[in-house]
Amino acid sequence: MPELPETTVISQDVAALAAGREVLRAAVFRPDVTNVEMEEFPRRLVGRQLFGTGRRGKIIVLDFGDVVGIIHLVISGRVLRLPEWREPDRMNTAVLEFEGGPVLAFTRLWLGYFDLYEPGEEENHPLISRLGPDPFSEDFTVEYLTKAFERKANIKGLLLDQSVIAGLGNIYVDEVLFAAGVHPTRRANTLTAEETQKVHAATRDILRRAIDLRGTTFDSYHDAFGETGKYQHQLQVFTRAGEPCPRCGTTVGKSRVAGRGTYACPTCQPV
Ligand SMILES: [Zn+2]
Repeated sequence: MPELPETTVISQDVAALAAGREVLRAAVFRPDVTNVEMEEFPRRLVGRQLFGTGRRGKIIVLDFGDVVGIIHLVISGRVLRLPEWREPDRMNTAVLEFEGGPVLAFTRLWLGYFDLYEPGEEENHPLISRLGPDPFSEDFTVEYLTKAFERKANIKGLLLDQSVIAGLGNIYVDEVLFAAGVHPTRRANTLTAEETQKVHAATRDILRRAIDLRGTTFDSYHDAFGETGKYQHQLQVFTRAGEPCPRCGTTVGKSRVAGRGTYACPTCQPV
């Protein structure tokens, strides 16, 4: 599932391909792909220009002026550039053609969606309204984390909670906790001030590096140009169970924390 870095890359790719261009055609495959009537989808988009793109947590935001597109790719959704217009189908669940050529398909939105809102209204979107601070925002401070960690919940579950921090998922939480030397099962309220500081710094550092390397291709993720990310080569513990820890050589272990497959070094991240 695309996390913050992958969503950032896709959002920037869409801007590179289509910003400043007018929508010529738009369609969705099934009614459940969007929050408006299927016939309403093109009515609202055709003739509008894509002014820019952004991101809220793991959600892609498209700014069409009077209309805001909210795209959640969820598990294996992608944005694909098609050679020419084609009607949406089971794979290409939403398709937009822009003036001058680019045709973008938003694929496999069975669990995700391409919703349309009026500007400002997207703040009431069920996922957006509950988002915690973005890791690159001013609100994401060590003080904020210290307060957020005043709970008994395990640290991994807390970092996965989008209302605590927007944009982290399973891959980057494991990498952040390894970098900070904190075991994923630790209760958040047992972290020292130094550990909280390390989690804060590692979150920004790892996400920034992952964006620079255009994300992690672990299963299906590709950018809008069809390329894989490169951060999977930098992963220290995620999916590395049975391999030596890159820092101390202890075998990396795998367990289940917060309902997710979790990777950690038992030496660098003592319980
Ligand atoms: Zn280690």
